[in-house]
Amino acid sequence: MASASRSPHRNHDGREWVAGMCWLYCRRDGIPVLWLGPVSSHGMQAPLFGCELCIAELEHMVWQYFEANDSPL
Ligand SMILES: [Zn+2]
Repeated sequence: MASASRSPHRNHDGREWVAGMCWLYCRRDGIPVLWLGPVSSHGMQAPLFGCELCIAELEHMVWQYFEANDSPL
């Protein structure tokens, strides 16, 4: 995407991109990331952020899950 901007912007579903660290696969810092939700581990909770590339990878895995399971839940 060539539209990486320095200021936060909203995507189609209203979530806001902020500059920060990707908590997913690449762990880059100072890049636009999106809050994905709270993550729980050992009774603690933290905000999970992901960059555009890693979110695309994650969504690909979600699609694979649904395709493999055929009927969602
Ligand atoms: Zn990432």
